[in-house]
Amino acid sequence: MELKTFMEGIKAKNPNEPEFHQAVEEVAMTLIPFINEHPEYEKAKILERIAEPERVVMFRVSWVDDNGEVQINRGYRIQMNSAIGPYKGGLRLHPSVNLGVLKFLAFEQVFKNSLTTLPMGGAKGGSDFNPAGRSDGEIMRFCQAFMTELYRHIGPNLDVPAGDIGTGAREIGYMFGQYKKIRNEFTGVLTGKGLTFGGSLIRTEATGYGLLYFVNEMLKEKGDSFEGKTVVISGSGNVALYATEKAQEYGAKVVTLSDSNGYIYDPNGIDLAVAKQIKEVERGRIKEYADRVPGSVYTEGCRNIWSVKCDIALPCATQNEINGEEAELLVKNGVKYVAEGANMPSTPEAIDVYLKNGVYYGPGKAANAGGVATSGLEMCQNSMRYNWTREEVDEKLQRIMKDIYANAYEASKKAGQEGNLMVGANIAGFIKVADAMIAQGV
Ligand code: NDP
Repeated sequence: MELKTFMEGIKAKNPNEPEFHQAVEEVAMTLIPFINEHPEYEKAKILERIAEPERVVMFRVSWVDDNGEVQINRGYRIQMNSAIGPYKGGLRLHPSVNLGVLKFLAFEQVFKNSLTTLPMGGAKGGSDFNPAGRSDGEIMRFCQAFMTELYRHIGPNLDVPAGDIGTGAREIGYMFGQYKKIRNEFTGVLTGKGLTFGGSLIRTEATGYGLLYFVNEMLKEKGDSFEGKTVVISGSGNVALYATEKAQEYGAKVVTLSDSNGYIYDPNGIDLAVAKQIKEVERGRIKEYADRVPGSVYTEGCRNIWSVKCDIALPCATQNEINGEEAELLVKNGVKYVAEGANMPSTPEAIDVYLKNGVYYGPGKAANAGGVATSGLEMCQNSMRYNWTREEVDEKLQRIMKDIYANAYEASKKAGQEGNLMVGANIAGFIKVADAMIAQGV
């Protein structure tokens, strides 16, 4: 099997989907040498089959805004792979959403979910709806219209969506309400639900906390610790805020947060209570932090964040937010660890720079798997009709993140590339899905 021919096939079959090509190429590059040593995978054409979604649903979402005007958005659900469990993956609401972006996310999700050790297949969905500036009533009507079609394609044993960019507890609540109304049943069909109707403790914190548990394992590997470390975090959404919280608990100093307009730098360490008030309560912009916290500065342009000196960089906003030049800048300023809270935040050029300069790199599909893992734990609790305590869920999350790290590390060693966690995560995630696909036949 050869990378070039394989990628030509992918590009011909999926034109105008650059993010999907990028995600598949990164995985194929690391997997093809492994597959070439395991002819059973090549013969069953597992990689070709994994790169083809099992099902793609695209649909119209029409709703009425506060001015009485009709709005039309496009909704999607990509059901990528169900070899090891029901489809599972988030719903993204952002104007940049299109088929290629969601296919890249669904593809990554297959490997990530496999790594969690829980029985979950991979999916992703969402819409090009832009929640920015929309009233609560508009958000509700959009979510209801979206679910009025999506409900046909999901179910607690079929496909269980969760949150992602633009989809938090509020949106999940409205979608759950609509599903329950249409189906006339109360089931764990979505995760990230409110705590009063089937949500799991720690789900809100899970991706950010899980990222830090993973980074903790990376530090331990190097005989290092969070003590005295300066951390740069991008984004100011769900993942960024709870990554900040756990980094601070570990004793590190987080000096930045950002949104798509710009970033704040606080040399004294982020005052998380202020950031949460602005983002979670007021749904404001991160710029307002600098008006409230003396000594902090706001800089227009979110990408400038990578010029801030740090030991650990945690991109937690969106795809391709660090390019090769920005990675060079991080290296020049002494970064030692990069771990991804966001999905595919580093371009292939940026990853090259990390690997060539000895930066210890934690790829998103391993490092940010804590979110979906805890969604898996929410599904377990829903099935049992029982709730675990905060400590019980946190303990399970910590164990899962440790296992993901250990499995990725072990697989990198077996592949002769010890410490290359990208290679390790791809191989470890692949084997379980591939073996299940072979066992289930063509
Ligand atoms: P949120 O919507 O809560 O926050 C997203 C943050 O990223 C906001 O600060 C947003 O700024 C910023 N952002 C979004 N798009 C862009 C862009 N194009 N350029 C610059 N900044 C941008 O999302 P989450 O925190 O949930 O998700 C962040 C990342 O983490 C995504 O890549 C997501 O796929 C990934 N992830 C999330 C998981 C979860 O459990 N939520 C699980 C695993 C991964 P603005 O307000 O200006 O748009």
